[in-house]
Amino acid sequence: MMNSPIQDGEAAVSGIAEFSVQIPDFKFQIPGTINQKLETMSIGISVLASGSKGNSIYLEGPDGALLIDAGLSARETVKRIELVGADPRRVRGILVTHEHSDHLRGVKVVARRLKVPVYGTPETVSAARLPGDVRIHEIKAGTPFAAAGFEIMPFSIPHDALDPVGFIAGLGSVRVGVATDLGHATTLVRERLKDCGALVLESNHDEKMLMEGPYPWFLKQRVKGRSGHLSNVASAEMLARFSNPDLQFVILAHLSEINNVPDLALGTAREALAGYGSGLEAASAAAPTKLVYLDR
Ligand SMILES: [Zn+2]
Ligand SMILES: [Zn+2]
Repeated sequence: MMNSPIQDGEAAVSGIAEFSVQIPDFKFQIPGTINQKLETMSIGISVLASGSKGNSIYLEGPDGALLIDAGLSARETVKRIELVGADPRRVRGILVTHEHSDHLRGVKVVARRLKVPVYGTPETVSAARLPGDVRIHEIKAGTPFAAAGFEIMPFSIPHDALDPVGFIAGLGSVRVGVATDLGHATTLVRERLKDCGALVLESNHDEKMLMEGPYPWFLKQRVKGRSGHLSNVASAEMLARFSNPDLQFVILAHLSEINNVPDLALGTAREALAGYGSGLEAASAAAPTKLVYLDR
């Protein structure tokens, strides 16, 4: 069942079905080559699912892995981690960005299934109404913490939630930045994301499609508002600032299925990147992005 009745605007109109928490046991089939790869690797990243139907990002390093958000069922989360060739047993914790159900819907069942703690701001974890057997680490925007061998920096993002954050995950000199669900790019957001080797950045909607589309007026205003979601153009404006030879991968996230099309978002971003961030792709609800590893 849903942990929180609070929905993202898009989720509220897309009629998401609740899912069962009765998840059958799963078996791990991990090829031997993966462990060899882990010893030498830098940060690996796959967006397992993205958009108003559910968000979850898998991030791994030599000492373990993390999930950022848990908007899928436990079974689907595990299935998608295995699908990209990774090992769910390596997950050490779930970082949550905010309490909207497309990010938190699966947090209880995933935390229980993987037996890992949940990291979130007090407002976010309290809205998640986690049961007593799930360990909680309260975090604060601007205060770094360590998890699974990463140094994590949570930072405030402008979104209509109680205390929403994005994350920078650092490992040595390599950094991954994650900012989905943000109405606009604040100076702080730009500052935090500027030196990342990989970015997962919202590219929610095409403004024309949104305004001419089927959403009710109040929802159009919410989505395009300063605490709503980032448009393709606003996302590309940020990417133009970050385009440099050290930017290896850009994954566009939280694309609206109603007010956007991947080719439009990708085209706008590609132009802004001007040849950098060559690993550009768009995450989707249907399937995970391939697990990519950053060069150190
Ligand atoms: Zn949201
Ligand atoms: Zn969302």
